[in-house]
Amino acid sequence: MMTDLPAFKKLLLHICCGPCAMWPLERLLEEGVDVTLLFYNPNIQPGVEWERRHENAVKVADHYRLPLIARGCSLAEEWLRRADEGANRCRYCYQMRLTCVAQEAEEGGFDAISTTLLVSPYQDRQMILEAGERAVQSKAVSFIPYDWRDGYRKGQGMARDLGLYRQKYCGCLVSLEESRFADAIKEEHKRLALRDSLRSGPFNP
Ligand code: SF4
Repeated sequence: MMTDLPAFKKLLLHICCGPCAMWPLERLLEEGVDVTLLFYNPNIQPGVEWERRHENAVKVADHYRLPLIARGCSLAEEWLRRADEGANRCRYCYQMRLTCVAQEAEEGGFDAISTTLLVSPYQDRQMILEAGERAVQSKAVSFIPYDWRDGYRKGQGMARDLGLYRQKYCGCLVSLEESRFADAIKEEHKRLALRDSLRSGPFNP
């Protein structure tokens, strides 16, 4: 365990997606941490993508036999309104999620929070750390600034071995449009939306 981290008893870990959770959970469970997962990611858009990443989070929770709390749903409006804000949109995105995690932790009797976003070399670590610290201000909860980036590739390999879906964009519709795979992703979303509508149709209750 990293020695300069605050001591705590129960960790509520924000899980941004299944693949990013693999390496952090390997490490946390090896260290004997009491961990509960919280999936709260309204930034994952559109709804079919949210469902898909949520299903992945459930698979990871089952794999490690951990409790998983899911909150919220896909909400595009606020991200679209901030489409031209660049890094400030991401600041908002980290902050609103971690503020919810801190609130949930306080209400649920946890004394620490962290996030699997801290495994990714593609996320803005400094911004996440600042959002985490702000989220726990005036709460009896600590934000644990783990650094799992050295295991990012290994975690992605573990996710592949477990058969997890590995997404090709960060989450919001703006990041989807910026992805070089945007056309293929949108086609896949259409296919998933059609599949879901057929499943819930009148002839297939
Ligand atoms: S790019 Fe990622 S971190 Fe930034 S606003 Fe979109 S979903 Fe959030």
